[in-house]
Formats: sequence, structure tokens, C-alpha cells
Amino acid sequence: MTETVQWMNDGTPYSPRFGDRYHSEAAHALAQAEQVFLAGCGLPLAWAGQPQWRILETGFGFGLNFLVTWHAWQADPARPALLHFASTEAFPVSAADLLAQARKFPHLLPLAQELAAQWWGLLPGVHRLRLAQGQVLLSLLIGDSQTMLRQQALVADSIYLDGFSPARNPDMWSLHTIKAVARCARRGTQLSTWTIAAQLRRDLAQCGFEVRKVPGTPPKRDNLHAVFAPRWEPRSAPLWALGAQTLPAGWASGARHVAIVGAGIAGAACARQLALRGWQVTVLDAANHPAAGASALPAGIFAPHTSSDDSLLSRITRAGQRCTLQWAEQLLQAGVDWDMTGVLERRQLATPNDETAAHGDGLATAVVRRAAHERPPSWSGDVAAPAAAWSLEASADQLQSQGLPADTPALWHPRGGWLRPAALVHALLDHPGIRFVGDAQVDALQALDGASHWSLCNAQGQELAQADLVVLCAGPHSASIGINGQAPRAGQALQTIRGQVSWGVYPAGQAPIVRHPVNGHGSWVPYFLSGAAGDAAWVMGSSFERGQHQLPPTAEDAAAAHAGNWAKLRTLLPDGYRPDAAAFAQAQHWAQLRCASTDRLPLVGPLLPATALPSGLLSPWVATAMGSRGLTWALLCAELLAARLHGEPLPVSNPLALALASDRYCQ
Ligand code: SAM
Repeated sequence: MTETVQWMNDGTPYSPRFGDRYHSEAAHALAQAEQVFLAGCGLPLAWAGQPQWRILETGFGFGLNFLVTWHAWQADPARPALLHFASTEAFPVSAADLLAQARKFPHLLPLAQELAAQWWGLLPGVHRLRLAQGQVLLSLLIGDSQTMLRQQALVADSIYLDGFSPARNPDMWSLHTIKAVARCARRGTQLSTWTIAAQLRRDLAQCGFEVRKVPGTPPKRDNLHAVFAPRWEPRSAPLWALGAQTLPAGWASGARHVAIVGAGIAGAACARQLALRGWQVTVLDAANHPAAGASALPAGIFAPHTSSDDSLLSRITRAGQRCTLQWAEQLLQAGVDWDMTGVLERRQLATPNDETAAHGDGLATAVVRRAAHERPPSWSGDVAAPAAAWSLEASADQLQSQGLPADTPALWHPRGGWLRPAALVHALLDHPGIRFVGDAQVDALQALDGASHWSLCNAQGQELAQADLVVLCAGPHSASIGINGQAPRAGQALQTIRGQVSWGVYPAGQAPIVRHPVNGHGSWVPYFLSGAAGDAAWVMGSSFERGQHQLPPTAEDAAAAHAGNWAKLRTLLPDGYRPDAAAFAQAQHWAQLRCASTDRLPLVGPLLPATALPSGLLSPWVATAMGSRGLTWALLCAELLAARLHGEPLPVSNPLALALASDRYCQ
């Protein structure tokens, strides 16, 4: 259930929870967004010519301030390449209410429709919505403002404070909330709001803001402007707590050169993210074409991971799935290169202590438990509807369509599906700022004497490229690339896992009608389009051969993996709902090496501490160890890498970013 909104006779939305209106009537509401907030923070002038602009808002509500800001950005020829808008919201309204309000502002409606299409599954936590082809990045911090801002690594150039009236919504304006807001300010950050409450002015001043009253927008006589100008040196922003080595101040990425090692999905995603930020990108790969390694998998599944305690893994996987979906929608042809068919997940039988793991209500229950400490005092705790947008108990129809008994423990992930990773890799690399260089196996990085850049060499010492920044996305090979003659310490955390799938093409006219993948002990994709001819095909995987490096596998290993895949398929689905033994025996094998870390999470971030490097030289960075979840994680990790590098709001909460940080293995 989303937040209850009452519509007043004059068409204004009213909150029964707070006893206050979200906005005045339409003309005033628009004037407030434009004058109090946008103009109040000196926008659009302040962002002109900047590479990016970061706005923080408390109280997303109907997103009117956001839509007005996005519209002004769109209309501005001097706009920054990236607009970041981070906004807190404890009680999200429904997409339908959001659209109902936006209909009063026809010029904003197309933007609101784009927003509404991504407005789903807003569980407590951080959700990154990618709009305007990824140039407008909205981070929704779902939870209490104070708690969420304390958890988030965020530096803002402008701040909008927009709660309900301080008397009715004291949490939003408390000194603790203002302190959490101030932690996100840099010297010179402008802040605006419509209330001039004396306590707020005192609190802002105590937190380092210079505050002044300015003439208001009717019906208000005065508004408040403030600039962050503390008389003390503010404590560095929480972003640095990650140990990130971001670009030195004044370091413009335009015309800077980054070399990315590895043209799989992680490398291609990093290439695209950095090209978006103005870098000249060269992607090097040992093979003569992109997606030659693990990303050549015929087709893979994306679906969220669920757990009875809503673990970090589950939360990272959800953030990753949202990211992959948004890129797939932007770049790929649905039904050809990917499809959001939904995924059926068969559950293991529950242990006595893990009942929720076996039942569909586990996710909502787990999220409520975790949300308990993030809630504002008036939190209702009902997160069943947003949870169901991710995962719910499979219906009898869904089970029976796969020949399974109606009481089989299983989940249905409505936004899961299948995707051909190679298609995504090619689409990501298709950008004017990206150049692919094949037959280029990088074995060593050497800092050039007296220079602030790196030389990338092969095993014979022959130089393949020079770059200001190097990003390693080479899977297991990342561990063996020497840096100034030494193996990277983080490499010790990487393991190789060989995976083999079995796949086949259906005889003409025999493609199945039920086309959603089934996950469980093994992954079954019953239908995808293979190769240039677009043959209807199936794929079943995968073996999990830890420490095996050999490719192709020996005939004996390949046969064992194939037999293992057949055994898994037989436990997933009954006869008649999968290829028979004879068809499976004819299947083709495909094996590749995956890379995983010892704690099973990817590695994203710098490989060397700044202290180990001469000033002006950037550490090599890494984005690897996607394990068997490359489709779900690689795009998110690339965005996280670019965000850390550029000091942008992170696409995930700080605890999740810390769990992914390469620094955990480097320091
Ligand atoms: N800025 C919005 C717009 O442009 O449409 C209007 C914001 S409305 C006046 C205030 C919002 O703050 C409501 O959506 C409310 O749910 C939210 N809110 C109230 N208390 C909160 C809290 N403690 N943490 C986060 N959000 C809160």
C-alpha cells in the first residue's frame, strides 16, 4: 500500500497523516517550485557550464520540485552533462497520484510519465532512477530524512528543504535532520526553503549556514536563503570514508584518457559510464572481439535474490536488477536481445528457523524488520506492495504452466527475465567516445617516470596503450596484471570458477509456449533467440567448478558438467516441460571462466591507497568479481565506480557501497 492522499475540492493533494497540504493550488505550487527552490538556489545560472550538478531535497512528495528542475535543465543550452537529484521520502505516494498531480502542468507531464514508469518497488533504502537517457539521475532515499542522510555518501551543490509545516512535521525540521543535511553541504552550497521559522534559522546558523530572509512568493511574505559558509573546516564528507581516491579538484575528465582492460559486460559498462562523463575511452581485450569471455554466455537470467533477513546480497541484487533493466530498456530490443518475462524461482525446503525463506511473503517481512530502525515515528510499516513489485509467491497458474504441483514452494519475480549479455556489451560500447582494441592482452601496468599516467604492456613488455586512468575489468586475469612490478593485493581475493552450460536450438515450429525462466538448483531459460539467424533456443546451466582454469575443459570434465546440468534440469521441471533425454544429449556445451571474490561480492574501487602513489598519479581502479551475477551487477558496479571517481551521489546506500568497495581487500 502506498501513502493515502486525499484530493481537496480545489484539486490540491492533502496528507491525512500530517494534516497538511502537499501543495497550494496549481499556479502557486508551480511558482513555489520555480521561485522558492530553483531560483532560490541560483539555478539555472549556477550550474551553467558545469560537468555535473548535485541537488539534495528533503521530502520528494509529488516530485514537483524535481520535475520543474528537470524541465529547466532540459531547456538550458548550458546545462551540465549530468543532473543528480537526491531526495528523501518516508511515505511515497502512488504512481497514479503522482500522475494525477502532474496533469495540471502539461509541460511537465511527459517528464512525469517517464518518472512514473520507473516508480515501482520503492522499498526502504536507496533507489536510483535513470531518466533522460541516463543524464538525469534521481536517487530516492526511501526512509526518514535524518536516518537516510546519515547513511548516504552525498555532497550537494544545492539543497531544497521541503517538509510539511514545521508544526505538523517536526522530524523533518529538527536540529538532527538539519545536521544531517549540513553534512552533505560543501562550502558555497546554496539552500532554499519557504519557511522562515526562527528555530530553523537558528539551527541552520548553528550548522554553518549564513541565513537571510528574502521576499517570498505569494501567499508567503518571506522565504529563506542560506549559503554553507562555516567558520570552521567542515569534516570531510562521508564519501571519503570509503577510502575512495576521487579525481583531484579541478581535474576535468574531458579529453582525459582512460584505458579499460577487458571487453566483457563489466568493462563495457565502465566504458559507457566514463564516456558519458567525457572521458576518451579505450577498451583493450586479449580476444579480437568484445564479449569473448564469460559475457559470451548464450543467454542469462536476471532476477532479485531474496533472503529472510533481506541481506546485503539481496539489496545489492535488487539495486543491480533495476540498473540492468533500465539499460536494457534504453539500449536493447525487447523480445530479441532480452525479455522481462518474469522468473519462477523454486525454493529449497525450509529449515525450521527459516520459514520465510520458503514462502513468498519472506521479502516483505524481512524488509519491514530491517526498516524498523529507519522509520520516522509515524511509519506504518506496510511494505507489502513495493515488495511484491520485486517478488511474490508464485501462483497456482504459474506453477501449473510449468507442470509443477500448485503447492510447490516457489517465488515469482515479475521483473526478472533473460538477456543476451553479448548484445548488451556491443550496445554499451557503441558510443563515439569509446574505441575497442582487440588482440591486446594487458599483463603489466607501469607508472611512467615523472609523468602522471600509466603505460599498459603485454607480457613481452610491448606497450599497448598509455592512459591517465586504468580500470581493470578482466575477470580472473585482473589478479595477474602486475602494477609497477607487483601483483595487486586485491588479486589475492579473486577466485576462478569455471561454468559450463548446455544449450540447444529447437526444431522448427517446436518452441515452447511458456517462455519464462525457472531458477533454483540451476537455471533454465526455455526460450531465447540465438545467433544472427535468431533461432529459438534454450539454455540450462550451470556447472560450478571452483579453481578450474582450463579452457576448453577436457572431454571428461565437459561430459561431467553436462550430466550435472541434466540432473539439475530434471529436479527443476517434470517430463514434458523440458527437452527429453535424447534432445539434451544432443545439446551443445559452452564453458567459460568466472571470477568471484572470497566474500562473493564484486570489487569496485581503487587498487592502491593514495599514499602509495606519487601525487598526480591516479591509482588503477577495478570493477570485477561479478561471479555468476554479471548481468545483475555489472551495470550497477560501473555506475558506482564512476560515481566514486567523480564524487557524485552513489547509486546505493553507503553500507552497500562499502560492502562492494575494493578497499576492503587493499588496505
Ligand atoms: N517536495 C515535494 C514536491 O515537490 O512535490 C513536496 C513535499 S511535501 C510538502 C513533504 C514530504 O515530506 C511528504 O511527501 C512527506 O511524506 C515527506 N516527509 C515527511 N516527514 C518525513 C520524514 N521524516 N522523512 C522523510 N520524508 C518525510
